[in-house]
Amino acid sequence: MLDVLERMRLIDHHCHGVSRRDLDRAAFEGMLTEGGAPGPLGGSMFDTRAGLAVRRWCAPVLDLPPHAAPDDYVARRAELGAAEVNRRFLAAAGLEALCVDTGYLPEPLLEPAELGRLAGARAHEIVRLEKVAEDAVAGGVGAGAFASEVRARLEVLAGTAAGAKSVAAYRAGLELSGERPTAAEVVAAAGRMLREADRAMAGRSAPPRVDDEALHRFLVWCAVDLRLPVQFHVGYGDADADLRRGDPLLLTGLLRALEPTGVPVLLLHNYPFHRQAGYLAQVFGNVFVDVGLATHNLGHRSSALITELLELAPFGKVLYSSDAFGLAEFYHLGALLFRRGLAVCLREGIDTDAWTRADAERFAGLAASGNARRVYGW
Ligand SMILES: [Zn+2]
Repeated sequence: MLDVLERMRLIDHHCHGVSRRDLDRAAFEGMLTEGGAPGPLGGSMFDTRAGLAVRRWCAPVLDLPPHAAPDDYVARRAELGAAEVNRRFLAAAGLEALCVDTGYLPEPLLEPAELGRLAGARAHEIVRLEKVAEDAVAGGVGAGAFASEVRARLEVLAGTAAGAKSVAAYRAGLELSGERPTAAEVVAAAGRMLREADRAMAGRSAPPRVDDEALHRFLVWCAVDLRLPVQFHVGYGDADADLRRGDPLLLTGLLRALEPTGVPVLLLHNYPFHRQAGYLAQVFGNVFVDVGLATHNLGHRSSALITELLELAPFGKVLYSSDAFGLAEFYHLGALLFRRGLAVCLREGIDTDAWTRADAERFAGLAASGNARRVYGW
């Protein structure tokens, strides 16, 4: 099955920009996992499944032997320079298209068009909903005009974006009600956000921040009204995410309310709640799932992860994403580990006569790109 998957170009439906600068070992390790750079008590981030996967699978792309030592790897990376490293890893991913979330920019990163050029793939943009609202507030809109201003901004962005994304999991949490917020609720929530921003700015300059349950929900409905596929960050993320509030089952009420609209909902990452996410993908006709980010963080174990996701998730509901961010390595690693993990899962089914080889090849095509093409309407 691996040869079949290697011939297929993937649609990476959730990823980010990568760094333009050369990285020393501390900076590289800081981006290697969601944990950031090692603290004063030590413990190298290379000694993780992600770090081991970099040494095993990324070293050869930089002309090093597999399992190259971390210092040799970082030195070779610096010798080639960030531009050449980015070019090699993006090209190695074998992509047909990518959907880039441009909403988080802690430092200047490659733009979607540049990523697409390096990957030889079509590049699309995903609008981060909370950022649209925060930009509207930073632009001076009052609470009364907030809703119409956000709708107008989103309508313009929807002209070119492939979808929208909610980071409610990082803010209020995923327990969002299925009710559409009333106009009065939105005005009140926007007013609270404006007062918060004013208070923060009086102390030191702090940008406005959406972290109100009603506002997250309002933004999701705005995107749904424009028929934009809506992505949710779910589960695994950095220390800013409170994982207890990142279980996708918390979204059940909202998913039930959204199902009749027929607008696709995409649950991203999901680990360690990938089985719950697989259940939601089975019972709600418009819910789709992936295990991006966890794929490269679990490294060699990602074949077990993909197999567990596909226990309940229908083969027609699983998409590929890398969730690459910062390091171009993740574009390559995500794609490679996804192909290998899915191949292990599909091969096992053929070997035990659970399904035919023809079925397995069809499932591979759906997960590689067919499901994404249907969801995003390409
Ligand atoms: Zn992401």
